[in-house]
Amino acid sequence: MNFRIKHLIFPVRKVVKLVIEPIFPLRVDPKECYSIRFLPFSGLRKYGLRNSGYIPTAADEAFFAEEHPLSPEGDFLTLSVTFPQEDCYICRLYVGDTQVETHEIYALEEDLFAKNPYKGDNHLHTRFSDGKDSPMYMAAAACRFGYDYCVITDHYRYAPSLMARDFFAPTGIDFLVVPGEEVHSPDNPVHIINWGGRESVNAWFQQNEAEYRAAVEAELSAITEPMTDADRYAAAACQVIFDRIRQAGGLSILCHPHWIVTHGFNEHEDITDYLADHKRFDVLELIAGGAYEVGTQIQLSYYKARPAMPIVGSSDSHGCFGDALEPGNFTIAFADSLEVEAIKSAIGSGLAIAGNDNKFYGDYRLVKYAYFLQRNYYPEHKKKRNALGAWMVRMASSNGETDTPDDKRKAIRPSEDFTKLRYTE
Ligand SMILES: [Zn+2]
Ligand SMILES: [Zn+2]
Repeated sequence: MNFRIKHLIFPVRKVVKLVIEPIFPLRVDPKECYSIRFLPFSGLRKYGLRNSGYIPTAADEAFFAEEHPLSPEGDFLTLSVTFPQEDCYICRLYVGDTQVETHEIYALEEDLFAKNPYKGDNHLHTRFSDGKDSPMYMAAAACRFGYDYCVITDHYRYAPSLMARDFFAPTGIDFLVVPGEEVHSPDNPVHIINWGGRESVNAWFQQNEAEYRAAVEAELSAITEPMTDADRYAAAACQVIFDRIRQAGGLSILCHPHWIVTHGFNEHEDITDYLADHKRFDVLELIAGGAYEVGTQIQLSYYKARPAMPIVGSSDSHGCFGDALEPGNFTIAFADSLEVEAIKSAIGSGLAIAGNDNKFYGDYRLVKYAYFLQRNYYPEHKKKRNALGAWMVRMASSNGETDTPDDKRKAIRPSEDFTKLRYTE
């Protein structure tokens, strides 16, 4: 590439200034004619925007039908432009009559324009349950693989997540460790993540089983639909756990309901249906670990057949294997900032998609935008995350003893990459 477009993310229906910079040693040649043409991915939409309050005009149509000369401004080439619709725009760049390069930019409605994409893994085990690595090492691995945040979620245990969070938080690094745990309550086969809760829900029923049983009994009578006794008990128990997670300030995530175990699905489908029909949980873990592949495929078609619900993708990794947290499933949350409350609110309100390096799932607008980010943002972002993650790995494997003042890697701020791509006047 010989040219770089300064900003890649723009607001729709505002006059913005596109700035193109030749990459050294190329310079703007005042004797040359530079021009650009924009092709909206979806075509110029009139039918699609007919109910939106703005329909592209004949002037828009003319604008997107031809090339536009770029004005030299010192070392830059510029053009004022208004993007009429939320879309990816292919930018064809010409020097004289020759098309020299193609770039992509994205224009977004105000709601998404204001958000930052944060990639994270919401389900990780460590050697404090049945995983093989330390909580610190798993967090470091998540950063090394390009993620902005992770949630440590050991079976029955909340403390390991705090161990990782408290190990890295004082260093001030640009990576978020969210507290969490995988909750398994008595006589309830359903696996549930307590995402970001301020306290342990496992500890609550371990220390107060009578209180738990009484709460489940109280919920049982509210379930009037036909169901086997065991499934009814599980559904009531789930309700108690979901409520308890919300009381603790967390998000309740229904984990891998279609995971295939020795008796079939991990939980009977009546339980899943009942909980989904009554919107009992906050979020569905749509795709999870590699051992669940068949279950995941079944779950994807289950999800498609239902009204939209908030989702996440997670690895459910039990260790760091080679160059991925297998099988590399993650979530992209479109949030205001890299903080627990902001990410929680994004996921809980459906501003998140599930995916891996090959496929994304979820809301159409978000998925279309995420594939643009996959092409134009994540490759460079991952390199910075990898460098920061390498420092975290070094700290994690030496219990913090190898931090040296001359190691600049911990000062890397990968989150700022995105804000640099977003248009500012
Ligand atoms: Zn599980
Ligand atoms: Zn798990």
